[in-house]
Amino acid sequence: MLRSVILAASRSSQVERLVATAPYTRDVVRRFVAGVATDDALRATRRLVDDGLAITIDHLGEDTVTPEQATATRDEYLKLLAMLSGAGLTPAAEVSVKLSALGQLFDEQLAYDNARAICAAADSAGTTVTLDMEDHTTTDSTLEVLAKLRKDFPSTGAVLQAYLRRTESDCRELSSAGSRVRLCKGAYSEPESVAYQSAREVDKSYVRCLNILMSGDGYPMLATHDPRMISIGEDRARWFDRGPERFEFQMLYGIRPEEQARLVGEGYTVRTYLPYGDEWYGYLMRRLAERPANLVFFGRALISRK
Ligand SMILES: Cc1cc2nc3c(=O)[nH]c(=O)nc-3n(C[C@H](O)[C@H](O)[C@H](O)COP(=O)(O)OP(=O)(O)OC[C@H]3O[C@@H](n4cnc5c(N)ncnc54)[C@H](O)[C@@H]3O)c2cc1C
Repeated sequence: MLRSVILAASRSSQVERLVATAPYTRDVVRRFVAGVATDDALRATRRLVDDGLAITIDHLGEDTVTPEQATATRDEYLKLLAMLSGAGLTPAAEVSVKLSALGQLFDEQLAYDNARAICAAADSAGTTVTLDMEDHTTTDSTLEVLAKLRKDFPSTGAVLQAYLRRTESDCRELSSAGSRVRLCKGAYSEPESVAYQSAREVDKSYVRCLNILMSGDGYPMLATHDPRMISIGEDRARWFDRGPERFEFQMLYGIRPEEQARLVGEGYTVRTYLPYGDEWYGYLMRRLAERPANLVFFGRALISRK
């Protein structure tokens, strides 16, 4: 219930204005977002890489409605990749890309062309691209674009969401050699016809999908903060004899940093998902919807006068 309210607020421009202008919002945003500029992303990447983490960087921007916006997003990624390469931060840092930000919702070919340009730049910079997954109406289109990109850039990563009923089957399809798959629970509000609704059902699906990926031939990327899923991931790594070069854990920037450090200390590969850019509002609201406990932290910041 609270989750649906927060997700509804994430689409309200009035709430957005209230949040954006509140005192202290900047500090809250900074907990989950590297900053607004490319330089901010670079600085945060350097710090995290020095701590032994791998990184995937996301340029925030979801409401792309014109070809010009889509091209500007592509150009931002090209600039980011050039800067990462120049700073010697590839291959530790790759990029995560939302096809909707590249024009998917109004011109799938344009989104593909833009994504292809980003994959080519990443390839020249010695790193990779992962295509984020958005709501279920875009799943087929995203997987089709992925398949086309993989012909030339086989290391392009997919994201599969355990809350979707179809995902076990998608995991089987994508568990072949060389296939990089990020498994997450899923962050959107989806109808019962396509998605499991209870946390228990989603967790059970996550474990079934994890088993398929960890026993397959691809490169699983276990994206979760859930202690139970992480412990099952560690268990399956031992069971299937997967060393740190054959799978990784992924977590979001600002969430469970001590756990990220612990896993690095244990010798695992851990990749932090690092967002930056000025369109932080929708991203921040999804993080709050996942964990309403963060609302207390957020509410305190909103009313603070300091
Ligand atoms: C790297 C990465 C990339 C992602 N990419 C996508 C994507 O492309 N598409 C998409 O739909 N979703 C994506 N997500 C979001 C994902 O789908 C989930 O919404 C999100 O990760 C929350 O699920 P969870 O597995 O972390 O655990 P949850 O089910 O949210 O939480 C389970 C348990 O984890 C612990 N926990 C969770 N959050 C916190 C916290 N803030 N502090 C302390 N403990 C916590 C608690 O013990 C909690 O009970 C991504 C997530 C990650 C980590």
